[in-house]
Amino acid sequence: MTDEQSKPKLNFIQQIIEEDLAANKNDGRVHTRFPPEPNGYLHIGHAKSICLNFGLAAQYKGKCNLRFDDTNPSKEETEYVEAIKKDVAWLGFDWEDRLLFASDYFERFYNHALTLIENGKAFVCDLSLEELRQRRGTLTSPGSESPFRNRDVAENIDLFDRMRRGEFPDGSRTLRAKIDMAAANMNMRDPVMYRVMHATHHRTGDDWCVYPMYDWAHGLEDSIEGITHSICTLEFEDHRPLYDWFLDQLHLHHPQQIEFARLELNYTVMSKRRLLELVQGGHVTGWDDPRMPTISAMRRRGYPPEAIREFCARIGVAKVKGVVDMALLQHCVRDNLNKRAPRVMGVLNPLKVVIENYPENLTEDLDAVNNPEDPSAGTRKVPFSRTLYIERDDFMEDPPRKFFRLSVGKEVRLRYGYFVTCTDAIKNDAGEVTELRCTYDPATRGGDSPDGRKVKGTLHWVSAAHAVNAEVRLYDHLFTLEDPSDLSEGADFKDNINPDSIKVLTGCKLEPSVSEVRPGDTFQFERNGYFCVDSDSTTEHIIFNRTLTLKDAWAKLQKKQ
Ligand code: ATP
Ligand code: MG
Repeated sequence: MTDEQSKPKLNFIQQIIEEDLAANKNDGRVHTRFPPEPNGYLHIGHAKSICLNFGLAAQYKGKCNLRFDDTNPSKEETEYVEAIKKDVAWLGFDWEDRLLFASDYFERFYNHALTLIENGKAFVCDLSLEELRQRRGTLTSPGSESPFRNRDVAENIDLFDRMRRGEFPDGSRTLRAKIDMAAANMNMRDPVMYRVMHATHHRTGDDWCVYPMYDWAHGLEDSIEGITHSICTLEFEDHRPLYDWFLDQLHLHHPQQIEFARLELNYTVMSKRRLLELVQGGHVTGWDDPRMPTISAMRRRGYPPEAIREFCARIGVAKVKGVVDMALLQHCVRDNLNKRAPRVMGVLNPLKVVIENYPENLTEDLDAVNNPEDPSAGTRKVPFSRTLYIERDDFMEDPPRKFFRLSVGKEVRLRYGYFVTCTDAIKNDAGEVTELRCTYDPATRGGDSPDGRKVKGTLHWVSAAHAVNAEVRLYDHLFTLEDPSDLSEGADFKDNINPDSIKVLTGCKLEPSVSEVRPGDTFQFERNGYFCVDSDSTTEHIIFNRTLTLKDAWAKLQKKQ
């Protein structure tokens, strides 16, 4: 992908839409929809679909509906509906007054089914689901017709009505379209339109004992809503003839189904079924566990919605499948946070430093820059005192030649502070360094030496007496393999879970400007990465998630190429 093109090229869906507009198809309207099934939380793949559908509507001054495809009562819950609404809104999209539910159309679906029955295009079939499967045929051989295929209309109507009212047990009967059992496309072999299901629906309760199948319902939903371009993922390409057949039989408004390749990302899984398995199995703390590929997890982790939209814009839409590198998503997040996250100093693994020639009771408020990328962000005061914390990793007893940080006898700069020289490392009985002794040069206040003396290392630090305590959670990929479905090492994708995907650090020390933070606030802890206040964080117990480190693998890769 390059940013070279000055005039953005149209993607294939935009091309279709522009041709339709030029031909004044649909009276020049563009109306799309995002149709999630409320059976789980949205993931980054859904974000691609949301940006695409709402984006096209905005671009062509059209509309985009948020429609819940809630036709399957067994797996759907109101919790998911609320979570999905929250995520779409957070991503920055507005469905206005078009929050719609497929379940509101159940009566209309039913009446359309009656029309097909009356026209001899649908019949009630008494075969079990197992028998249906057996008679479906294969890709190379035709299926066999149901013995109930030629039932007369009156009997079909009577049976369908009794199915609806719950007279028959689950799985005992279906309503099927009468198309062609020899069709090359197996979806056209007298597909099931309704099944008997005694289940309570999250919105229609126990009103219905039959529920529509996706292929039957989806085109009708689109048609009822006046959708012009029904955009879906490639798996539905083979279903398009059926989508078209139903609408043609009924002479209804006929949207155009257009398929694109779904987003796949490395190091994660994206299907809701698998994500649910991770949640229910306790492999993560919930749908919004910051390691998950869900929108809610990314929000909690500190990914800004603008960065997710930028990512979706950069990956584009195409007909060819491909796996996108997680590093690109992370690059978009870093790029965004770099511009707007205030910088602060936070020490994750503190090591105490005493500056022996600094006055006991003195505190100096030093000036620190809030964001070097954004001068309008201004400066803040950071307290400096005799006892500080630095990062444990910033000291080495026996440093290699190119270690420019602290060791006994070495001088470094403390960011916005002074030059300090380490004079001694104090150890406990186990031989671990517990404290450093240093001296400082008062002439280097602010971090510059008047005599032009150079130091190579600049360390971040926090004044011990003023430090804010925090818990910090560090994350890595949830899976060890780029393709978690690669089962060469195990029997199940869960065998590829990364055992080190989370590391919890307690006793981190942050500069006092970070004391009054609220969930969702985002910072750059200098040298340590971007961090976001967790949703469980309180004033008494501050919790930060590391959004990302500062290392941008994607940018590095681009530079090399
Ligand atoms: P999953 O397979 O992850 O469970 P789904 O397709 O069953 O997802 P739906 O709720 O039916 O989930 O999807 C709503 C919309 O989001 C559909 O239009 C679907 O095509 C789209 N969508 C789902 N996953 C992706 C993806 N990975 N990339 C792009 N679009 C997606
Ligand atoms: Mg689905």
